[in-house]
Amino acid sequence: MLVNAPSWPEGKRGAVAITFDVDSDSQLHLSLPDAHRRLGAQSWGRYDEIAVPRIVSLFRELGLRQTFFMPGWCIEHYPHVAAAVVDGGQELAIHGYLHELAHELTPEHEEELLGRTIGAAEAASGVRPLGWRGPLFSFSSASPEILARAGLRYDSSLMGDDVPYILESAGGELVELPVDSSADDWAQYVQSFDYDYLMPVRSPERAFEVFEAELDTALELGGMWIAVWHPFVSGRPSRLRRLRVLLDRLLERGDVWIASLGEIAAHVSELERTGAWTARRERVPYYTEPVPELALVRGELAPR
Ligand SMILES: [Zn+2]
Repeated sequence: MLVNAPSWPEGKRGAVAITFDVDSDSQLHLSLPDAHRRLGAQSWGRYDEIAVPRIVSLFRELGLRQTFFMPGWCIEHYPHVAAAVVDGGQELAIHGYLHELAHELTPEHEEELLGRTIGAAEAASGVRPLGWRGPLFSFSSASPEILARAGLRYDSSLMGDDVPYILESAGGELVELPVDSSADDWAQYVQSFDYDYLMPVRSPERAFEVFEAELDTALELGGMWIAVWHPFVSGRPSRLRRLRVLLDRLLERGDVWIASLGEIAAHVSELERTGAWTARRERVPYYTEPVPELALVRGELAPR
């Protein structure tokens, strides 16, 4: 069913990454003009201060290195959280500056904020970040070029395939490690009056039914599964304990490669370099202006 899945290291059957977007209260400030007065909502985001060390400690106990995406502002504002990631041997990747949406920015502004975020991550970790995930999966038509030119190696925001592929742009190439909303914890667990997001909260067991249906199928087919989770959501004790059950099961199988996204991107690049595998390539952006047929459908063209 999967077309063009790469082989995985040491003959493993598939790849799994449990990635976390450490948003804290960044999105809140951008979304609500009175965010600075909403201490209650801020405290929810700041639960990241409790959850990130707890998650890192679980990964360390199991000998795992995983990827944590942080907005630049969060790295600057919560240096101890970034330090917990870095000192815990995990990968620090980036996720906007203040969780802004790339498609709402001019390319110049997008590039400027990216530069500031890269600087913050570099200062916190001592190395240039390799990976990017767009806040709320936002990715502009200029993003591929801007990210590649800034030296990013991979993106994990798009949903265009089940397996890694390459984005080719005027700025160079990016490895795309695609995700899907079904792997996002927000839909399973979040209820927020501040965000006006009122959904029934599911038990970890029900949430993992959704996650594991996708994950187990991906493994069966030789593919890849990437969790898109948030420490202040999935780092709560019952949910993290359920993650432990999943990780124990995967580790016991012994045929699953649990890796950081940086490692997965490096692996597929190496397969490409040696000619062992050829990635599907997409030239981006797909569009630089509204499709001309739009005018036709809206009746803005004279009838023939
Ligand atoms: Zn986010």
